[in-house]
Amino acid sequence: MAEFKTWSTFWYQEDYEIVEKGYKNKNTFEDIAKQLNENRKSKITERGQICALRSPGAVAHRLRIMGLISSEEVEEFYKTHRKKKAQKRSKGLDKERKLAFNRDGNKCVICGVEENLEFAHVVAYKDTRTNNHKEAITLCKKHHKMFDKKDKDTTVFIFQKMKEYYPEFENDYLFKYQYFKKYNMDKWCIVRKDMIPGKK
Ligand SMILES: [Zn+2]
Repeated sequence: MAEFKTWSTFWYQEDYEIVEKGYKNKNTFEDIAKQLNENRKSKITERGQICALRSPGAVAHRLRIMGLISSEEVEEFYKTHRKKKAQKRSKGLDKERKLAFNRDGNKCVICGVEENLEFAHVVAYKDTRTNNHKEAITLCKKHHKMFDKKDKDTTVFIFQKMKEYYPEFENDYLFKYQYFKKYNMDKWCIVRKDMIPGKK
């Protein structure tokens, strides 16, 4: 077993072979990462080990270490990759923003300011990967910042507001996230219950 304990951190010979083959076939770094991860995932079932998956960026860096691409090409990759990610993130945003702003009377729900309004994800974007207005609220810059810093009063207020709007917030969403406890931080956020591991 000892031999396999390091599987998660090492780049094994077969990893290199997959990366090199993908590169020679002119596959995208995203596709190479996918191929790599399919193989790595199969190792989990086979050996009962969890192994780290590789991102397209990790593939780019590996290709540079292997001398197949230059640092400039890695940089170039990140530029496009970031752009693609941003495009994905803004998907449907205009429409959802309008719905949220209209619902909230085109003002910050906390202080009533009507200028420079922002679309704030009530449930973190990283958890949902969507821009649903039913999980978002209209805030001014200042209150958006406070909410993002997980300020308790701001978060309680927003949670109450969402409960007024949508009855499902009562049961399907939680105000506090246990995760922060282990860092001993007094931080608060709103989560969807079905996203908490073990609470499905
Ligand atoms: Zn405000």
